[in-house]
Amino acid sequence: MSEKTSQLHEAQAIMSEIYERLNVSEDIRSRLHQPRRIHQAGLPVRMDNGSLKVFPAWRVQYDDTRGPAKGGIRFHPDVCEDEVATLSFWMTLKCAVVDLPFGGAKGGVQVDPKTLSRLELERLSRSYIRAFYDVIGPDRDIPAPDVNTNEKVMGWMADEYAEIARRQLPAIITGKPLGMGGSAGRIAATGRGALNVLDAWVERKDKKPEELTVAVQGFGNAGYNFARLAKEAGYKIVAISDSQGGIYLKEGLEPMPIWEHKNETRKLSGMVYCDDTVCNVDSVETISTDDLLGLEVDVLVLAALENAITDKNAKKVKAKIILEIANGPVTPAADALLQERGIVVIPDVLANAGGVIVSYLEWVQNRTGDYLSEEVINERLAARIENAAKNCFQCAHREDVSLRVSAYMQGMERLAKAMESRGTQHYFEGDVLT
Ligand code: NAD
Repeated sequence: MSEKTSQLHEAQAIMSEIYERLNVSEDIRSRLHQPRRIHQAGLPVRMDNGSLKVFPAWRVQYDDTRGPAKGGIRFHPDVCEDEVATLSFWMTLKCAVVDLPFGGAKGGVQVDPKTLSRLELERLSRSYIRAFYDVIGPDRDIPAPDVNTNEKVMGWMADEYAEIARRQLPAIITGKPLGMGGSAGRIAATGRGALNVLDAWVERKDKKPEELTVAVQGFGNAGYNFARLAKEAGYKIVAISDSQGGIYLKEGLEPMPIWEHKNETRKLSGMVYCDDTVCNVDSVETISTDDLLGLEVDVLVLAALENAITDKNAKKVKAKIILEIANGPVTPAADALLQERGIVVIPDVLANAGGVIVSYLEWVQNRTGDYLSEEVINERLAARIENAAKNCFQCAHREDVSLRVSAYMQGMERLAKAMESRGTQHYFEGDVLT
């Protein structure tokens, strides 16, 4: 991976503290230092005008010691090998933090999907599966949606896999449409799980949702569903932003009509409040995406992309709690600055694990043929993620460490156990059969 590894190395910086605290062996440190496998391809796609374009694409399987690799596929113009590898490293830890029998992987295509027609998007999605068919599979590596990919894309991909395999294997991919073996509750799972984690923290601090104001950066699948459910639970959502800009209303916003309006017009706009009686349209303020990060709120939710808070803008943050729904939205340098100022960061590997938890339930349903109701799915999601959150909060308190260090310790302990059982230098030193 030569010099393109900066993001991955930055993400791994925290590991030396984790390894020291858990006394992790050299074998394990070396194994986790780099991905097990990096697959790269050029995806040829016939465009509507007859021309051929080739899009760079990756599938990185970081580790599969605890089970088949698992992770989403991202379509974005900035996708590169380093980013995909970093995301696959976080997936490895995340699956271990919430104790799923999966390793970590990630996929990406360097493309601006907004410039593609629907048919071009379908051809690109199918091309991804043709390129990586040999290295994925229900027992090998199971993709899912991520930024700019959704259930339609997963449906095309599952269909392409079935066409090549000449049999139905729905467990190859999660986040599929319901009609193709998708799971009830999957679309909202990441936002719902993040809310379960926030609720557990708020309860621990003897607070009530009604007392807390919230700003949400990123109004896509994860950010919208979080905002909608948090509003229902009593939190006051005062600001929302997407890549184009943001809106602010002191009295509180209504996420659902904003979402519907955005889907119609493709932009967040104050106009939406005309549809809703609770708001005074005059008081809706248009703010920049940067302004949102510096708002005086109780909870700042980061649900867009990596590196939203860096050492350059960390000082601007006035929130008391940051909830990381995106992967890697706070850089390590910013993390240290926030910690110094007593700002609590609820880390991505815990906060956004709801998506992969329900993906796991989808995979189990596909393999057993026993499909569960949305109510049961939501109950199982809440039980698993709340349990992980409580363990994380208790360990952070006991060891006097940040929530991020605590969550990593939880995941690393499980990973180390799995790797030890397969054999390390230490393992072979004694008589194994005694
Ligand atoms: P999405 O494509 O549906 O939405 C992303 C949103 O972020 C869009 O509204 C976009 O306009 C906005 N955005 C981009 N740049 C921005 C900026 N500078 N300021 C404000 N908003 C900006 O993607 P998603 O599925 O909601 O994923 C969002 C994040 O959550 C990603 O980091 C993803 O890896 C993570 N995540 C998603 C899932 C899932 O199940 N969808 C699971 C775990 C983690």
